[in-house]
Amino acid sequence: MNLIMEIILILQIFVLGLVWGSFLNMAVYRVKHNLSFSGRSFCDHTKEKLTWKDLIPLLSYFFYKGRCRHCKKKLPAIYPIVEFTTGLVFVLGFWYLWNNFLDKPLFGLNLFIIVIYSLFFLFFAVYDYLYWEVNVKAIKLALVISALFSLTAIVLSDKQLVVSGISGYLGALIAGLIIYLIVKFTKGSGMGEGDIYLMAFAGLAVGIEGLIPLFLISSVSGSIIGIIKALRVGKLHGVQIQFVPFISFAALAVLFWKDSILKLLSLDEFFLLISEYL
Ligand SMILES: [Zn+2]
Repeated sequence: MNLIMEIILILQIFVLGLVWGSFLNMAVYRVKHNLSFSGRSFCDHTKEKLTWKDLIPLLSYFFYKGRCRHCKKKLPAIYPIVEFTTGLVFVLGFWYLWNNFLDKPLFGLNLFIIVIYSLFFLFFAVYDYLYWEVNVKAIKLALVISALFSLTAIVLSDKQLVVSGISGYLGALIAGLIIYLIVKFTKGSGMGEGDIYLMAFAGLAVGIEGLIPLFLISSVSGSIIGIIKALRVGKLHGVQIQFVPFISFAALAVLFWKDSILKLLSLDEFFLLISEYL
């Protein structure tokens, strides 16, 4: 494949990601407000139905200068940011598959797994960013689906999937247990039932060998943003941040670049040794 073809392919994946990002914005809103997924989107204020002109990812936002075409109210900047981020995650996920799984069978199934994980992680990140919580119904659904992926990995054996089997279950168990203990023994950590499931979900995605990078990347990136936020509001105590966006960011990073990250942390040989027993 020549360069032009590759660029066109990447652009197509990016546009596909934009469309799914637009879907995510809608999904987060509808899940939060207990609305059904069918039916056209409408303006919050005038209740007018939105048409295709309002719904082109990124472009509608910039063309109408970030305002609603119907009521002229300012639209939250999170909409185009989610769309762009989803496009980017799709490209990175596809890039990872392209370089590591192209010559293996089950490319379609692996693509499906990457898309589902990407959408769920982005969904929970946006949901937590906007509403400061993990939706328990949605995370239970995500857990069941990801547990099925890992079960498939066990059945297939021989490392044909992007997710690992037994290592995934162990990762989920340990990550979930850590958060469970934090919830149980600390008061005011701001974490609850949803966070336990979310970490188990992330554990299934990265496997037991991905847990150290997962905790490391999420806590370091979360702390940096937390400190920046504290400096901006001018106080260091009592500053709260939404933590799920950092878990999601870390989990997707580990999912796409696990080998390089483990090597960077000099953990690769240690886990190579362990993986021979799993
Ligand atoms: Zn409006």
